[in-house]
Amino acid sequence: MQADLKADRLWRNARLATMVPGASPLGVIEPGAIAARGGRIVWVGPDRDLPGELAGVETIDCAGRWITPGLIDCHTHLVFAGDRSDEFERRLAGESYADIAHSGGGIAATVRATRAATEDELVAAALPRLGALLAEGVTTVEIKSGYGLETEAELRQLRAAGRLAQIRPVEVARTYLGAHAVPPGGNRAAYLREVCEEVIPRVAAQRLAEAVDAFHETIAFTAEETAAVFESARRHDLRVKLHADQLKDNGGAALAARFAALSADHLEYTNEEGAAALGSAGTVAVLLPGAYYVLKEQQRPPVEAFRRHGVPMAVATDLNPGTSPIASLRLCAHMACTFFGLTVPEAFLGMTRHAAQALGRLGSVGTLEPGKWCDLAIWDVEHLAQVIAWIGPAPLHARVWRGK
Ligand SMILES: [Zn+2]
Repeated sequence: MQADLKADRLWRNARLATMVPGASPLGVIEPGAIAARGGRIVWVGPDRDLPGELAGVETIDCAGRWITPGLIDCHTHLVFAGDRSDEFERRLAGESYADIAHSGGGIAATVRATRAATEDELVAAALPRLGALLAEGVTTVEIKSGYGLETEAELRQLRAAGRLAQIRPVEVARTYLGAHAVPPGGNRAAYLREVCEEVIPRVAAQRLAEAVDAFHETIAFTAEETAAVFESARRHDLRVKLHADQLKDNGGAALAARFAALSADHLEYTNEEGAAALGSAGTVAVLLPGAYYVLKEQQRPPVEAFRRHGVPMAVATDLNPGTSPIASLRLCAHMACTFFGLTVPEAFLGMTRHAAQALGRLGSVGTLEPGKWCDLAIWDVEHLAQVIAWIGPAPLHARVWRGK
């Protein structure tokens, strides 16, 4: 291997947080170097150990800056149309979410606007939100459908999400979330049949998504209905994820674990057995403190239990027009520390290695290791904690996607 080691680009004199498990929680190497070829990392290690054959290629002196893997936002609803900031004012004036939903607001409002939008309009509306994430070092983003709630509108959302990856330097992981809500005025059983028998087969055949998600909650879908959606996903070789235990303990974590879900997300009300089940199944717990904040929730996810049971924890924005209108993964990491008690290393793993695992992409991104994509975030900070301790513009020196 060493004999044909070749690179086309080299970063030297950096402090690397490789996120590779080992003696230090973030796999720190300082001073370190990274070499890439054809967009992939070919060598990572201490600067002094850099193989001689790599010297002489285009070299970037990082002047002691920190480098982490490019950040990964593993749970967003980034593609939608319309705006619901009027609901912000209505809530401030004392109306509840339920009041707003009953008068045609809430998710129904986003569904109306999204159904009326063309694919081009969905792309145009999503670009500024995506841009905000990229500006703080995000290189992989998950995007869910779930605001069409009818076949063509759902597929259009997924196609728009795919287009984003063609016009911006970012990897997009798409998730079909038809089981987000029963469509306004729709028939519950008929809609679920459409999801399981019509849309999932088309999504799989056209490769419009790689995973299927569902909203398992008293106000959304039951355990039986969710299981039916997951069975269909399984028949079509799609992985599953679950919005679970957000508003009450419904046994959602255990349900996700039963289907070996990539991730279970929210989890404020998950109990000890649920945490244990996630640990045994290797399912990632995705924490979404933005929604916790906006909904003024009091119940915090059982972070201690996740640690006890070895559950990998990721942090994501849940970027959506209602309960988490937040286009900053760093802010959500900050909130995961302040509200949920994550340590700074846990927050970083939650935006890198564990987020990659939540997307089934640990083989290609999430850590700085040979063979993975050379997606980097280079930070102008003295201490890594500064990346998330501050709220405001990201102290990002450079964002590298696929080695460029
Ligand atoms: Zn969500």
